[in-house]
Amino acid sequence: MKIAVFSAKRYDREFLDAANVAEGHVLKYFDAPLDSESVGLAAGFDAVCIFVNDKADAEVLAALKQGGTGLVALRCTGFNNVDLKAAAQLGIKVVRVVTYSPYSVAEHAVALVLAINRKIHRAYNRTRDSNFALDGLMGFDLHGKKVAVVGTGKIGRVFAKIMLGFGCEVIGYDKYPSPEFEALGARYAEPGEIGKSADIVSLHCPLTPETHHIINAESLARAKRGALLVNTSRGGLVDTEAVIEALKSGQLGGLAIDVYEQEAGLFFRDLSNAIVTDDVLQRLISFPNVIVTGHQAFFTREAITTISETTLRSATQYAKGQALTDEITASN
Ligand code: NAD
Repeated sequence: MKIAVFSAKRYDREFLDAANVAEGHVLKYFDAPLDSESVGLAAGFDAVCIFVNDKADAEVLAALKQGGTGLVALRCTGFNNVDLKAAAQLGIKVVRVVTYSPYSVAEHAVALVLAINRKIHRAYNRTRDSNFALDGLMGFDLHGKKVAVVGTGKIGRVFAKIMLGFGCEVIGYDKYPSPEFEALGARYAEPGEIGKSADIVSLHCPLTPETHHIINAESLARAKRGALLVNTSRGGLVDTEAVIEALKSGQLGGLAIDVYEQEAGLFFRDLSNAIVTDDVLQRLISFPNVIVTGHQAFFTREAITTISETTLRSATQYAKGQALTDEITASN
């Protein structure tokens, strides 16, 4: 089967090529993201393989259909960038990688908690300049602190388990609570309690119309003063401008994000020689108590191997007319 791989980086090529030895598809790599301008490149391909910031909206999907593409294979878990209803209407199948390594993202979230609390980013820069002073580097013990997990699915539960290991009290919120979360020794709480009492809030729910900007001026005003916020899920969960105001007033004690609402066009690119015109991101980066990583939480060898193998296995299932194990539809 002919597959057009969009937003292809060196590591995508390396791992997809390795996984393709077993599957034998014809892969054509494009640096460009999939969007209404680049969609013409997919004409004549049976499938497109896309990533988190590619855009498969109704317009792009209609163009894909016209060009003969019948499968959109997301090499990621989140699918907020695909119009599933439009895909269903056009008869285009959509697959994603339901599970790869929840450890990759959860461990990165923990790394962000530790770094932002103990100011590792600042210490690293200071000691490189032979500044061994400690002023401004004080953190707090994680032991005994209250950590809130919003979205207690696969990643949220791994994160919860690690934080329980630190001796934290872990509370959670989920639209669909799971006994597995409680079995870890954590408990569910109402958003009100989470806001009022959590020392650290970590976001692990998907971006949906319902979760868009769940962190906003109101929820920040209700939060415990000085709390830390970690977001490794999707940028759109957070109203960034409201967060900037909360950081300025000290209401929010620190922010560590791997995702940013306007990350498309910025993340996954080396812009070190360019002028970044996104003033919101630049303001964020200027705070000493903010850490930004560029959507790298998934980026472990184990995760990329599984992502590549699962994506191409789905393509093979599609080519053979088999049931698609990892199909995602508007209703599931
Ligand atoms: P999952 O489906 O196992 O868990 C998501 C949880 O969120 C589920 O328990 C679900 O019930 C819950 N949820 C749904 N709607 C909710 C709502 N309105 N309020 C509260 N909870 C709600 O998914 P996962 O594998 O744990 O992944 C979680 C998210 O992590 C993904 O949606 C994706 O956006 C993000 N992610 C980020 C990276 C990265 O590299 N930064 C990588 C993978 C996944």
